[in-house]
Amino acid sequence: MTTRYYLWTVGCQMNRADSEKLAAGFDRLGLKATDRIERADVVVLNTCSVRQHAEDRAYSKLGRIRDLKKERPHLKVALMGCMVGLKTDELERRFPQVDAFARPQQFGPIMELVEGPAEDLGGEFWPTTYAVPEGPTSFVPVVHGCNKFCTYCIVPYRRGREKSRPMDEIVREVAYLTAHGVREVTLLGQTVEAYGHDLDDQPDLGDLMRELSSLERLERIRFLTSYPRDMTGRILEAIAALPKVMECFSLPVQAASDAVLESMRRGYTKAEYVAKVAEVRALMPAAGITTDIIVGYPGETGADFQETRELLEALRFDKVHVAAYSPRPGTIAWRKMEDDVPADVKSERLHRVEEIEGRISQEINERYVGTTQQILVEGVRGTQPFGRTRTGKLVHLDVPARIGSLVDVRIEHAGPFSLRGTPVDALVTV
Ligand code: SF4
Repeated sequence: MTTRYYLWTVGCQMNRADSEKLAAGFDRLGLKATDRIERADVVVLNTCSVRQHAEDRAYSKLGRIRDLKKERPHLKVALMGCMVGLKTDELERRFPQVDAFARPQQFGPIMELVEGPAEDLGGEFWPTTYAVPEGPTSFVPVVHGCNKFCTYCIVPYRRGREKSRPMDEIVREVAYLTAHGVREVTLLGQTVEAYGHDLDDQPDLGDLMRELSSLERLERIRFLTSYPRDMTGRILEAIAALPKVMECFSLPVQAASDAVLESMRRGYTKAEYVAKVAEVRALMPAAGITTDIIVGYPGETGADFQETRELLEALRFDKVHVAAYSPRPGTIAWRKMEDDVPADVKSERLHRVEEIEGRISQEINERYVGTTQQILVEGVRGTQPFGRTRTGKLVHLDVPARIGSLVDVRIEHAGPFSLRGTPVDALVTV
């Protein structure tokens, strides 16, 4: 009888990429996917602990599984991802319904559960097993882990230290993806510019982009997430010079006050961050730049927050992902700092950032109206095709367009979250 698996994923693109890899491995072993948990023989929850909300969703799934397991004791359950640390005793005690615990990228315990081939588990998990892509865009992890240890972040404890994948392995994967219809890849790393420093000949992200640019069927290259200090002039020059690399940056600042940045151990000052953004814009004036902000970090005063507001007004990001600080167990901030900003103050600061963000995003997006932008058509929502500009703006199209095609689109309408437009070809024939 065929073994059915149910794979549930929350969190960042890295988690999604891990799940795609695991699913490809399961498929290779002859397991079949199901989207109904009650029909599964194997359940894998790929979790995130960056926010309390993501953990709460996993707890709710675990409650459902506890009940299911009473009816179906043969059900095998694995908990993977950032909720799983080095020591699992506490998790084992709390969740006896779970049979295997696996940290991110560590698929061994799950393979044991499904009696998969253990000999395939050295280095990158099944380096030649790829998921069949579902659309024209795909995520490709290039460097795993993080060496930075920002005080609020659990990632280095769960995903381990930076480990780059060999360039030829990445090129092979992207060639496979493009042979299966992918036109745009997003190169992933917690700090993607850290790519290569641990490899023998120390290539950098620019070298990898150059290599990938030679793949004929690949049209576009994106990259996530940037870390200011790792983003060298050499990498920026490669991004600016390579036509396939998109001018689209995700560059978290987190806070503007030097005192808060130091307390977070972010490794840069406000002035250094501002200089990095200036460097990007000097080379690529139209670049789309998004950022992340944490409000209410321990010790953040009104004056500190005022600096964040001023920075947002001065740098005018395309999008700001804002979160109120909440201590994550196991992090340095959780161990050593008092969560001393009251909840109502955090909430007020969060809304202030959202207000600034909404206004500036709208203003930036309005500048696109009347321009022509190249869009890669990624899919269709309802009846409307959608895709992104080279700067990362979401665009809905007024007329049908083939998924996977690159089209020049005249932008006619701008909202704070997306644009709307008509392909130039369609305009000509009207
Ligand atoms: S750079 Fe900092 S915030 Fe980003 S993953 Fe590493 S430790 Fe976490």
